Amino acid sequence: PLLRRSFLPNLGARSLLSTLALLEQRGGQLNRGSLSAVSAAKKLGGPVHGFLAGENVTGAAEEAAKVHGIEKILAVDNEAYEKGLPENFAPLLAENIKKGGYTHVIASHTAFGKNLMPRVAALLDLQQISDVVDIADESSFVRPIYAGNAIATVESMDPIKVITIRGTAFPASEGSSGTAAVVKGVDPQQGSSTEWVSEELTKSDRPELSTASKVVSGGRGLKSKQDFDNVILPLADALGAAVGASRAAVDSGYADNSLQVGQTGKVVAPQLYMAVGISGAIQHLAGMKDSKVIAAINKDADAPIFQVADVGLVGDLFQKVPELTEKLKP
Ligand code: FAD
Repeated sequence: PLLRRSFLPNLGARSLLSTLALLEQRGGQLNRGSLSAVSAAKKLGGPVHGFLAGENVTGAAEEAAKVHGIEKILAVDNEAYEKGLPENFAPLLAENIKKGGYTHVIASHTAFGKNLMPRVAALLDLQQISDVVDIADESSFVRPIYAGNAIATVESMDPIKVITIRGTAFPASEGSSGTAAVVKGVDPQQGSSTEWVSEELTKSDRPELSTASKVVSGGRGLKSKQDFDNVILPLADALGAAVGASRAAVDSGYADNSLQVGQTGKVVAPQLYMAVGISGAIQHLAGMKDSKVIAAINKDADAPIFQVADVGLVGDLFQKVPELTEKLKP
């Protein structure tokens, strides 16, 4: 168990419980995946406020205000926060947490959340609690350890719990009937020595891997990038699925880094996960074993992937996948 006393004053009675949920936006568009933080916050009970910052965030804030269960949106309109640089964003969020007197702060365990929340916790002299998949009570949180092979329940004695949650464990809050007030958050406008220079974004017309309802992933069994593109992509398109990959496929250059599923890649839990030419190493399973239906195609009947698969096909993927794709074509 995580038992640590903080130097901050204890906030005391349970009735004071209130949660700030970090919402993500880009270019004024609310990232609806980040509404998982709201679902987790609702599970704690007590009032839930949302926090958004960036350039021209009014539209995203108004959209978030309609989400069921949020009482208030704190919005900070300042282009300094648009790119989500954690060096700028952490002092901003810490100030808003202090001003609002929150007992819990929740962000999704995304690249942004993972980058930001440890810094926020450090600024407040707190211990961060990562990758939570369930909330046992206001101080106890359930999280996977050892690449998902064991589940730990950790207890935090800190007066403010700074948490990241696994999005797949908390379906994003929906609803459009909410009437949260949108108010200005505090903006400390602290300068930072870190400057945003540029970014190169991978663009794809396919569904986003983390939130797709179907995923087709390819592994080292594909043998080359060309084969990955010729075999995996048509199947994904026939199913309307996102494309994923094992780390071996990414390291071999068959697929882009952003497509890696697993312990050091993305965690997905779609309705259907198809593993093609993937052996099923524990580090890969850590990223997909909570999928509703797992289908595996592998020529080795003893491959570990078949131990977690609901449906298995033993055969040569270069023959089986094109056949399947042909049958699935409208
Ligand atoms: P392999 O294990 O080589 O499996 C290839 C499979 O393809 C085999 O089962 C084979 O039978 C099958 N095959 C070959 N040819 C055919 C064919 N013609 N038809 C049908 N089947 C065929 N891995 C991840 O995926 N994600 C991670 O996030 C991740 N993080 C890691 C973190 C750490 C710290 C470490 C140490 C490892 C991590 N790994 C991760 C790597 C992991 O241990 C495995 O090495 C990797 O998942 C193997 O990828 P693979 O299944 O594609 O390749």
